[in-house]
Amino acid sequence: RAAARRSAAEHLLSLVGVPAKPLLPPTVPGVLREGLGTREDPAAGPAAGAVGFEPTEADLHRALDQGELGVVYQPKLMCATGALAGFEVLVRWNHPVHGVITPDRFILLAEELGVIDTLTEQVMRQALAWLQRSPLPAGLSLSINLSARTLVGLSVADRLERFCTEAGVAPSRVTLELTETAAMEDPVSALDVLTRLRVKGFELSIDDFGTGYSSMSQLARLPFSEMKVDKTFVITAPSSGDSRTIIKSIIDLGHNLGLRVVAEGVEDHETLEYLRRCGCDMVQGFLLSRPLPGERVIEWALARPDQPWLESPSFFSR
Ligand code: C2E
Ligand code: CA
Ligand code: CA
Repeated sequence: RAAARRSAAEHLLSLVGVPAKPLLPPTVPGVLREGLGTREDPAAGPAAGAVGFEPTEADLHRALDQGELGVVYQPKLMCATGALAGFEVLVRWNHPVHGVITPDRFILLAEELGVIDTLTEQVMRQALAWLQRSPLPAGLSLSINLSARTLVGLSVADRLERFCTEAGVAPSRVTLELTETAAMEDPVSALDVLTRLRVKGFELSIDDFGTGYSSMSQLARLPFSEMKVDKTFVITAPSSGDSRTIIKSIIDLGHNLGLRVVAEGVEDHETLEYLRRCGCDMVQGFLLSRPLPGERVIEWALARPDQPWLESPSFFSR
């Protein structure tokens, strides 16, 4: 079961349930009904119509030209107190016919077609303008996903800084998330670009940690301030001792390197409690909030206490 869950997570499949064996015909509709009842916010997740849709080059060009790409925001919380630290920005394609399409369907295509920088620009501009307008406290940060392709060329730091300046948001409020493999592909030029970004004040985060092929020495050499434990380990933590051991080791490694450690994919109380015991710094996941549209996430943030888990410790006994 743990292997099945991990495999589903690795394929970015959203798992609605794992039926018990033997698998009898009446079991499947029950599992589907139960699982689908707790799905992601419809505004943020894939629409039924998007199933099977394979975007073409022309579709993606039109999406970029017509402004069909939007963003949703997933809260990042302090692990010890539940205080809101910031949001991860996740792109969504609001397709006029197929509904909301998630990024696993089109990021690779955007990279192959060489339009990923345009996509990043549209995502950053929307998110920065939203942050600037939002009535939330000024200390909150935004995490933006960067593709490996964006790290090529030395002008990238100037471009990203310009988006911040135009929106009136300090780069120090922006964390750039890079995947482990993306950051390590060409360590020499990556070091150059990442150093420029750090000098401008951006925070750098190594995403999906534990799934790539980095060497420890490169990791220590690159100027990261944050490490994100890959969600496949976090999602499977309740059912897999191996996953829990890996999570603990990553947290210790991150801390020994002076990094803040974030766990994403937190789906249940038990895992959250485990992460707190391991000294994890921040958490993100469906248990705390699904990725939500800008207006909705502001309502969510304004409706909650400042430090909910300190104020109501019973949160953990649910
Ligand atoms: P990621 O950076 O690892 O983002 C986290 C993904 O995990 C998001 O999927 C989020 O919806 C999902 N997630 C969050 N909490 C949970 C949880 O508790 N359980 C489970 N099962 N999943 C959770 P999403 O939005 O579909 O994004 C998929 C990937 O697409 C991202 O993975 C990131 O690599 C990429 N991506 C998203 N937005 C952008 C973007 O603006 N630019 C680039 N280059 N890539 C992006
Ligand atoms: Ca990310
Ligand atoms: Ca990740």
